[in-house]
Amino acid sequence: MNTEWIRLEAHAKINLSLDVLRKREDGYHEVRMIMQSLGLCDEVWMRACPEDRISLSPYGGEACPGVPYDEKNLMYQAAALMKERFGIKEGVELQLLKRIPSAAGLAGGSADAAAVILGMNELFDIHAGFPLLSEVGLSVGADVPYCLMGGTALAEGIGERLTKLPPAPMCQVLLVKPEAGISTREVYESLRVNERPAEAHPDIDGVMSALQGKNFKKLAARMGNILELAALPMVPEIETIRKALLSMGAMAALMSGSGPTVFGLYTDADSRHQAAEAFREGSFRGLAKDVIETEFYRFTAL
Ligand code: ATP
Repeated sequence: MNTEWIRLEAHAKINLSLDVLRKREDGYHEVRMIMQSLGLCDEVWMRACPEDRISLSPYGGEACPGVPYDEKNLMYQAAALMKERFGIKEGVELQLLKRIPSAAGLAGGSADAAAVILGMNELFDIHAGFPLLSEVGLSVGADVPYCLMGGTALAEGIGERLTKLPPAPMCQVLLVKPEAGISTREVYESLRVNERPAEAHPDIDGVMSALQGKNFKKLAARMGNILELAALPMVPEIETIRKALLSMGAMAALMSGSGPTVFGLYTDADSRHQAAEAFREGSFRGLAKDVIETEFYRFTAL
């Protein structure tokens, strides 16, 4: 047992494309999504303690509004499941420095949970590989297995069936999140996917072949997120932000996950920064609650 503090990065993700294939009889939605890690990350600090308990507090003492610091936090659930699965008798102290906007479609909570799983694997010398850890991750949430893997990947099933893809061409990213919150469950339900025509579905295979060929233009042309159909009527700012990003030189702009964050892809950091300034204090001021400049992130956690 290692009682020193360790620090892990929990990276946000965007969906370069997202398709919902159908709603299954058991109520789950079957998806096909292209996932991409971002440089933007939370910091998870953790250390083992001899007592059998899990504690979670904000790093530096300042709580982040909207983030629960009790059993509702996915980090807490991940720690409890790791203890149970691997028979860990000792406890763990967790601290979270939050940078990823929450309930934003950026998988912040899932990334934090994945970091806890990897951290406990290390702190308690478990040496479990990806298949076992991803099983624990899936019991926390459908996006957690991907967060354990990171990089560019195709996620199928309910998000847990993963295939690594060639790394996407390096890209500058601007994240713009409107003030309004959005419920993932509501977006999926109001999509009524089983009634949508074939044309509503984005070309996921086209995006994969663009990635394979490192063809950025083709990638930008094929990207799509079927959940925009359901989210736009709930938060009209999504479309305004998307158009604003495109008018300011973004190669592509799309809602991430179930929203409401919209991302713009830029080839250079200067044009991305100019667009960011327009949302912060220029012509598009007031549209966004969070404006974050970041980039694609390549890593292999496992
Ligand atoms: P999506 O899965 O659509 O990408 P999201 O990942 O952006 O959604 P989260 O940041 O995970 O959404 O937060 C969703 C909700 O989960 C929050 O409103 C919060 O109440 C709760 N939550 C649980 N654990 C965490 C965490 N570690 N960080 C932030 N929110 C958390």
